[in-house]
Amino acid sequence: MGTRASRASSNPDVTGLTAYGCRDLLAGGEVSAVELTRAYLDRIGAVDGEVRSYLLVDEAGALAAAAAVDAKPRSQRLPWEGVPIGLKDILCVKGMETTCASRILQGYIPPYDATVIAKLRAAGLVFLGKLNMDEFAMGSSTENSAFQITRNPWDLNRVPGGSSGGSAACVAATEAPWALGTDTGGSIRQPASLCGVVGLKPTYGAVSRYGLVAFASSLDQIGPITRDVKDAAALLDLIAGRDPRDSTSIGLPEPVGFPDRSSLEGVRFGVIKEFVGDACEAGVRDVFDGAVDAIGALGGVCEEVSLPSVERGIAAYYLIAPSEASSNLARFDGVRYGHRHPHSEDLYEMYTRTRSEGFGSEVKRRIMIGTYALSAGYYDAYYAQAQRTRTLIIQDFARAFDCFDFLISPTSPTVAFKIGERTADPLAMYLSDLCTIPVNLAALPGISIPGGFSAGLPVGVQIIGPHFSERGMLGAAHALEQKLRVDVVPPLAEVAG
Ligand code: GLN
Repeated sequence: MGTRASRASSNPDVTGLTAYGCRDLLAGGEVSAVELTRAYLDRIGAVDGEVRSYLLVDEAGALAAAAAVDAKPRSQRLPWEGVPIGLKDILCVKGMETTCASRILQGYIPPYDATVIAKLRAAGLVFLGKLNMDEFAMGSSTENSAFQITRNPWDLNRVPGGSSGGSAACVAATEAPWALGTDTGGSIRQPASLCGVVGLKPTYGAVSRYGLVAFASSLDQIGPITRDVKDAAALLDLIAGRDPRDSTSIGLPEPVGFPDRSSLEGVRFGVIKEFVGDACEAGVRDVFDGAVDAIGALGGVCEEVSLPSVERGIAAYYLIAPSEASSNLARFDGVRYGHRHPHSEDLYEMYTRTRSEGFGSEVKRRIMIGTYALSAGYYDAYYAQAQRTRTLIIQDFARAFDCFDFLISPTSPTVAFKIGERTADPLAMYLSDLCTIPVNLAALPGISIPGGFSAGLPVGVQIIGPHFSERGMLGAAHALEQKLRVDVVPPLAEVAG
């Protein structure tokens, strides 16, 4: 591998680096922003034909942004200027097609930047392009994209998870040092777990949702997908903050900073009983048990805790999220954005045809469930009941945090499954988010870090903290990450890199 300098010059593939690694090379003048961006574009060219994580690669835009960075004296640059990033295609980027992997938004070019994008732009990051996802973030495998199936870099016959599967696969395959995803019920943490990378879902309100195409507004949060915990902390600090354009945003009480905790002496972890045991496959349980031992070796204390209501999380979520989605997706009517059926006799027919041909089957299923759950005759029986269940889940977490600093569980009950394995069975697909959904319902922060492998496939460990405990949670995650030292380089990266 050689020194950094020889890595940058003799081997242009610097793509295995973390974002901090990229930043150091740029700061030391060992690589220019254009060289770095070019290396990622080359890497995308070499492997994305197989991985298929990008929906759009903005080669010209990325190189122009990088050249503008190179034109500035290094002393005048901001810390992250020139570091590339990949973006889930649900975030509005001015002038860059944003589709949510849906035919109905094909051709939509936002006239404005989402707040997180404006922040990254101001920080000088280079946007490589837009990443594949389940249509409107509805799914757990990225198979619901209207355009392509993204494959897991650890085994190309398997899914990368979802809905931010493009973001997780792209970071795992070193096609970007880091990426942004969104998480409504697990869509950052579950794909991070299945692809062997780090995924952070911030506390609801920590990050502005302005310019994020809404799926379920009371649950959606934008967050980082990275190669390690300190990159996740840095990216969170770049995007967090109160935003007058999102009245539900509050920001973080303090910056997360650089997580450098190494001991967990005296830190109390509650192991969520309902998410281990029979709920998980054996290989996942083994890796999770290893993480519990590692916490013990670092001086932390792990004890079982029961949160009886979390088992109803999936049922509550699949009423609340579709209800909000049925309302949010009403705006896609063929008038305002993207696709419109071209030959309609009247307005009603135009709406119907546009939506029939523009939305995929999972999106239609959610719109129908949500419309039904909100209808006058059924509102109390379904939507209101789901909200009451949500309250019980919130109370369960609050009680657990009276006794514990953090809660832990596997991120996903299984490793990455085969492409096509769950597409015919929506309920099996929904179970992928057993351990992540309750965290969204309770608006809590959660992070998935690589815990190890089961039969050669990555297994993630989830740490959940109290509201706005990101600083402490990332510190604990960093300590555990250093102890576990999971080697997260998929075979694909070794071959092509
Ligand atoms: N898989 C869950 C769903 O299909 C969660 C998706 C998400 O977090 N965006 O709704």
